[in-house]
Amino acid sequence: MPRASSLQTIFEIISVGYELLDGRVVNTNASWLAGQISSLGGRVSRITVVGDEVAEISSAIREAMRRGADWIITSGGLGPTYDDVTLQGVARAIGRKLVLNRRALEMIRRRYEELAREGVVESPELTPPRMKMAMLPRGAKPLENNVGTAPGVLLRAGGCWIICLPGVPSELQDIFLNRVKPILEKKIRRIAIADRWIYVRGVPESNLAPRLDELRTMAPGLYIKSHPEKREGTSFIRVYMRMIGRKREACEKVLDRVEKELIKAIGELGGEALKPEGGNS
Ligand code: ATP
Repeated sequence: MPRASSLQTIFEIISVGYELLDGRVVNTNASWLAGQISSLGGRVSRITVVGDEVAEISSAIREAMRRGADWIITSGGLGPTYDDVTLQGVARAIGRKLVLNRRALEMIRRRYEELAREGVVESPELTPPRMKMAMLPRGAKPLENNVGTAPGVLLRAGGCWIICLPGVPSELQDIFLNRVKPILEKKIRRIAIADRWIYVRGVPESNLAPRLDELRTMAPGLYIKSHPEKREGTSFIRVYMRMIGRKREACEKVLDRVEKELIKAIGELGGEALKPEGGNS
């Protein structure tokens, strides 16, 4: 893992659901969210999976807050059923009560009216399970869900932003892209990231490792990682280099120097360095 750069906004993702822990469902929400956050310039420092238990969820939230996460994003457990307890866990973690949120109730009412018109549900009546989805921690803001029924949730507590999203991937993605992303684009600290790959043939990873350790010390904010791979019977190592800083140009300059040193080291080790086809983006 790259060292946390103080320039970066730190995120933790907490996925909720026993189906993730027993292998029935693959945690694609976490990897999708991590990709989105990384491409916005945020840094995901941890992904945690917990079961549908209030105590588990609240301790995961508290631990993430204690570690100093700027943002915590949860997925799953916002639905109408008794085992959807994410908001209870969040409320317990931050010491707030769950209260009926009028705006959330209005969103849910409109959704069920639509679903009743489309014949998806028999009645638009706001039954207790449906009203449950409007019980949010005090001070929370609901985030409209255009795909399903449970709104997402945004709140601020103890210097940390907490976002709760539903587990169904299409719903999570809808709320993230339409409601969360525009907020993150404003709030994530602006940083510059430059990255590139080099392919190495003919050098065992264990021989390359000490040279990469030396290169890592060339600049603060620099991350280098080797990924051994085998394709069509040929072994090679993909070396990933990433530089985080305030200015893109300065980051690229550092990577130019690092890349030059890396290519030199590969040559000294008797290997061959190849740049990716089509160059680095
Ligand atoms: P609902 O309103 O449908 O109850 P919810 O927020 O309560 O939504 P869950 O009940 O936790 O969500 O999950 C609904 C479904 O979404 C699960 O059955 C599973 O198929 C899928 N799902 C949940 N979590 C994930 C995840 N982390 N990655 C991928 N799919 C997931």
